[in-house]
Amino acid sequence: MGLNEVNLSNIKGVLLDIDDTLYCYSYCHQIALTECFGFLVGKYKELDLVTCQKIYQSGRKKCHITLPGRAASHSRLLYFQYMVEQLLEHTDVNLILHLEALYWDTFLSKMELDKNIQVFIDKCFQKKIPICLLTDLTANIQFRKVNQLKIADKIKYIVTSEEAGIEKPHPFMFLKALNKLQIKPREALMIGDNQAKDLKGAALLNIQHIEYKAKVIDTI
Ligand SMILES: [Mg+2]
Repeated sequence: MGLNEVNLSNIKGVLLDIDDTLYCYSYCHQIALTECFGFLVGKYKELDLVTCQKIYQSGRKKCHITLPGRAASHSRLLYFQYMVEQLLEHTDVNLILHLEALYWDTFLSKMELDKNIQVFIDKCFQKKIPICLLTDLTANIQFRKVNQLKIADKIKYIVTSEEAGIEKPHPFMFLKALNKLQIKPREALMIGDNQAKDLKGAALLNIQHIEYKAKVIDTI
C-alpha cells in the first residue's frame, strides 16, 4: 500500500520519523562530509581525503561505542572533536566548531522534502490529524531540519532521543509521543524507513506502522 492510499479514518495521531523518511539523508550527508574534508585537505597540506575518511569513521565509531543508544552517539560535534584530536593531538575548539557548522549548514542547504511525504503531511493537516515527529538525534539539529523542510507549522509535537534519553525502538520514545498527542497505541500510525527502529518499536506497542523511505537522490 502506498503512503497516500493509507486509510486515516481511525487514526487520531501520526508518529513520523525524520531522517530518510522526510528527505534523503545520504545525499545531504555525502555532500556535507565532502565539504568538510575538502576544507581540511586545503588547510593541512599533508592530509588527504582517504585519511580524512579514516579518522572521521574512527571518531564516529568511538562515539557509538562509548554512547550506545544515546542521541549524542550521532553528534557531529563529537565526531569532529575526536577527528581533530587525532589529527592535531589537541582539542582545537574553533576548528571543531567550524567543521560542525560547515557540515550542518551544507547538509541543511541540500535538504528537500519528499513529494509523497509533503502530500501526506498536508492531508493530515487538512484532516486535523496531529503529527508528532519521532527521531533519534539531538534536539537542536532536528529542530533546524524541521524549519529547513518548512513543515514547522504542520507539526504538532516532536520527540527526540535527546529528550527521551533513549533511542528507538525503545517503547519509551513511542510512549512519550503518544502521551504528548494524548492518544492510545491503537489510535496511532507510525511511518518510518527503519525496520529495526521505527517499525519494530511501533510493533512492540501494537501501533499500526508503514514503512516509507524518502526518494533516493544520487550524489553522482
Ligand atoms: Mg529514519
